Amino acid sequence: MPASGEPRGAGRTDEIDAMEQVEGLGVAAGIAIGRAVCISMRVPDLFQIPVAPERVDDEIARFHRAVTQAQEEINLLRAKVGQELGEELAGIFDAQGLFLRDPTFLEGVEAHIRNEAINAEWAVYETSVDIQQRFEAIDAEYLRARAEDLRDVGRYVLRALQGVQHHQLSDIEDGVVIVADDLTPSDAVRLGRKNVVGFAIEHGSRTSHTTIIARSLGIPAVAGVSGLRQRLSDQPEVPVILDGHRGAVILRPDAITQHRYRERLRAQAAEEAALIRCGQDVAVTRDDVTVQVMANIDLPEEIDDACRYGAAGVGLYRSEFLYIEKSPELPGEEDHLALYRTLIEAVAPHPAIIRTYDLGGRKIARELLASDGENPVLGLRGIRLTLARPEIFRVQVRALLRAGIYGELWIMLPLVSTVEEIRAFRRVLDDVATELDADGIPYRRPRKLGIMIEVPAAAVISDLLAREADFFSIGTNDLIQYALAVDRNNEHVASLYRPQHPALIRLLRTVIGNARRAGIEVSLCGEVAADDRLTPLLLGCGLRRFSVSPRRVPAIKQRIRTLATAPLEALVARCADCATSDEVEAELSAFLAAHDDDAATATATSAASSGDGPT
Ligand code: PEP
Ligand code: MG
Repeated sequence: MPASGEPRGAGRTDEIDAMEQVEGLGVAAGIAIGRAVCISMRVPDLFQIPVAPERVDDEIARFHRAVTQAQEEINLLRAKVGQELGEELAGIFDAQGLFLRDPTFLEGVEAHIRNEAINAEWAVYETSVDIQQRFEAIDAEYLRARAEDLRDVGRYVLRALQGVQHHQLSDIEDGVVIVADDLTPSDAVRLGRKNVVGFAIEHGSRTSHTTIIARSLGIPAVAGVSGLRQRLSDQPEVPVILDGHRGAVILRPDAITQHRYRERLRAQAAEEAALIRCGQDVAVTRDDVTVQVMANIDLPEEIDDACRYGAAGVGLYRSEFLYIEKSPELPGEEDHLALYRTLIEAVAPHPAIIRTYDLGGRKIARELLASDGENPVLGLRGIRLTLARPEIFRVQVRALLRAGIYGELWIMLPLVSTVEEIRAFRRVLDDVATELDADGIPYRRPRKLGIMIEVPAAAVISDLLAREADFFSIGTNDLIQYALAVDRNNEHVASLYRPQHPALIRLLRTVIGNARRAGIEVSLCGEVAADDRLTPLLLGCGLRRFSVSPRRVPAIKQRIRTLATAPLEALVARCADCATSDEVEAELSAFLAAHDDDAATATATSAASSGDGPT
């Protein structure tokens, strides 16, 4: 422990300086070297920032100014509620006002600022958590309610502090590795565009949208590192290395480890350059089957990446991210149109598949839904939400029809579980077209209207859906979640979330088989498509169209070129008959080992015949 009176963050013991490693789940590959900044999502933009010892008194004064401002805000609210709702309810704010004068709170915050030499925001957060935990431990309803009051008071002070003098992440010069309890997809977008080089998240999993965003931004991420913030508490800006391949966070790396990782960063950049070079070539298997590898796009900056990495069009544009980025405002028709046009023109003559809003569930739509219910992923989500809120959906549909004139637009509907949903959408399309005709606005209907297959019921009736839809795109992220009853965001069941489950292989075979029999296109745009170990299984199921994040396009193409489709059907047949995911994994590993040996022999033979071999 530091000597008494000495700032806790400043005097570090050998124990604190020692290198340590925290294991998690690698969810976005890559290596990040930087400084850890803890962030709590319970309040927006809350960072732990060191304060120079000579500025500690100013920081305490800043805290007191914020308390005064928070008190004024609470008084105003109290008066308003008193007038409109009566004195009884207004009394709640008296209790909150009391907290603002309570010495436990005030002195607690001051002590944190002074002893740890940290910013007032973080000190308020730490003090509130301390007091809340004490309240919550007491088994009395009344006191637990006081913990709620305290949470609110903390928020008032934090908001006031941020208005008084807002600490920015850009105050930190090095790359920032965000250490968070959880992150929403929009937080990941916002932070990822600052000087953030890595994410370490205590919750979350490989297919949560936050980690999908991390991959879109090319930011390495590790999830499931529970307790990491606790280990870093009291120590602002600890140097860290985040290894998104292995799923590890190394705190206070020693010089040798730092050197090793810097070398790996350099090697990574060279590998990426090589992949880009071979990314433009078409993906053809060894037995001459051409396979399309398209790109999944979440953010506008990925459109260039899709072209650079050689994608054959956009297989999935997650349009809800336009909404998430604009939130709390709703994107207007012109916002949609501008983006869709850019997308369509950038990938022409290939198709751009734009998915209508998939909001609800974890992609919270506060402006659309007052509450998303007890079980949001089974609630008003995807096509259900858009059909339920036509006034918002129509803006998007108008823009989509107008965007059709710029090229090869395919529209795709998310989370379809019934034939009626497709029919209802076609009616919306007809209505909007009539409206545009009446307004004299030029438009063109999409070349194709397709659906995501991500609900097991849709997979089972895919023969019927194939009569109504022009194409399918299989969303394994959700299909696995719903088929195996495993929440894709829950780290506690992450080990059960297995694409190798025989049920999934059977579902894939059914859907792809039904699509091919009906003569419609079928692609796969879930994260499974981006895993090159699974490519043989997908090709063996008959899949000829993949959609992956732009950076994965070259690697998947490369894998496809090494395979011949003929033996893969037999591999899939063996896997579909396996009893367990482990047995499927064993079949796959045996296949890959034999295949990699063959590939190595083929390379050696061709090198020897061209005179490049060892002499
Ligand atoms: C999926 O579910 O596989 C998918 C691609 O959609 P999202 O990840 O946006 O839910
Ligand atoms: Mg989905």
